[in-house]
Amino acid sequence: MSADVLVVGAGPAGLAVAACLRRQGIDAVIVDRGEAVGDTWAARYERLHLHTPRIQSALPGLRMPRRFGRWVAKDDMAHYLRVYARRHGLAPQFRTEVRRLDRADGRWTATTDTGMLTARQVVVATGYSNTPVQPHWPGQEDFGGSVIHASAYRSPHPYDGQRVLVVGAGNTGAEIAADLAEHGAADVRLSIRTPPNIIPRQFGPLPTTLMAVPMDVLPAALVDPVNRLLQRVTLGDLARYGMPRARAGVVAQARSTGVTPTIDVGLVAALRTASVTPVASLERFDGSEAVLTDGSRFAPDAVIAATGYSTGLTTMIGHLGVLDERGAPIVTGRTSAPGTDGLRFVGLWNPLKGQLFQIGLDARVVARVIRRELRSADLRTS
Ligand SMILES: Cc1cc2nc3c(=O)[nH]c(=O)nc-3n(C[C@H](O)[C@H](O)[C@H](O)COP(=O)(O)OP(=O)(O)OC[C@H]3O[C@@H](n4cnc5c(N)ncnc54)[C@H](O)[C@@H]3O)c2cc1C
Repeated sequence: MSADVLVVGAGPAGLAVAACLRRQGIDAVIVDRGEAVGDTWAARYERLHLHTPRIQSALPGLRMPRRFGRWVAKDDMAHYLRVYARRHGLAPQFRTEVRRLDRADGRWTATTDTGMLTARQVVVATGYSNTPVQPHWPGQEDFGGSVIHASAYRSPHPYDGQRVLVVGAGNTGAEIAADLAEHGAADVRLSIRTPPNIIPRQFGPLPTTLMAVPMDVLPAALVDPVNRLLQRVTLGDLARYGMPRARAGVVAQARSTGVTPTIDVGLVAALRTASVTPVASLERFDGSEAVLTDGSRFAPDAVIAATGYSTGLTTMIGHLGVLDERGAPIVTGRTSAPGTDGLRFVGLWNPLKGQLFQIGLDARVVARVIRRELRSADLRTS
């Protein structure tokens, strides 16, 4: 099959780009390895609500209804995406995984598990959180309890009465720890390697991620002292509850490590009541015990690895020289990297203002640039 534009991925980013392209008069071919629109969101843990407010999470060309509330539930997000695809007349081709992209004679070829596709332009929208990263700790094979990645966590109920070690204090780990503590787990420990910057979901009436819009462009030295003050005033000194202090400010940490702050949706209350205990990083297992880097030990029934995701792009495009050391594209949005004209990435950057908001901004611009490039190429050949 041959297309003007191929969009890889039918999550929020792929749908938003395809919808904006349609408004420019271009019907993109959209492929996705999954089964149906919204499935990724439907499958996430029950408690999950967006951390970005409704108005900052809608995609171009369709508002989210007021009844979703300020913080949209994950099933409402899945529903919204289905409606979004229908309203914009988008019909992704599912069960089609792109394995590799190559460029030859001014066209892109996508090798998929169902055949070859060619296109003049390609938008990769396969998700920043594409592939769960789950470390294998020494001694894990002899540990009798369960070990899962946080992407497989659905609800706290299987952990009633259990001792649980949650590894990683990013947004997912912090929320899962709070969820477990609120719903009957006997002992919840949160294992921390990189101390997070914890921030409230809103400052007074203002959603934090809205305030973060200018932070993505301002110098860290300017905004981080203000962030630190706000963190102190709203959440207090969490070191009192055993939470180690972040090594850098919100913006500095995000820029140097790609790690965005942990938005509090229950962790701080759980720290204050000691129903979640921060502990050191997990080093290894010794029989039924988890051994931490400070030498302390804990015998959990279950371990939940909230250890993040990779973009999973290395096999698909690693050979093109467009990925950095973390496997993220060196350019996103409108720009194509040198030697890869017509290849763009949407949704593959994790800004402080939230990915959905950034996806909306990038989708509009990318669609306009693609239309311009297709037109001028057509003019050159006519
Ligand atoms: C738990 C969680 C909570 C989040 N909360 C927020 C929030 O509150 N606010 C916010 O702004 N952002 C949030 N995000 C970040 C981001 O907005 C979401 O992950 C969003 O779904 C990203 O959209 P996407 O289209 O870029 O990626 P995805 O939703 O991951 O969609 C990618 C699609 O590509 C498909 N795909 C992947 N690889 C291939 C391939 N090789 N071939 C074909 N198809 C492929 C997948 O099947 C999937 O359908 C959250 C992320 C997570 C994990």
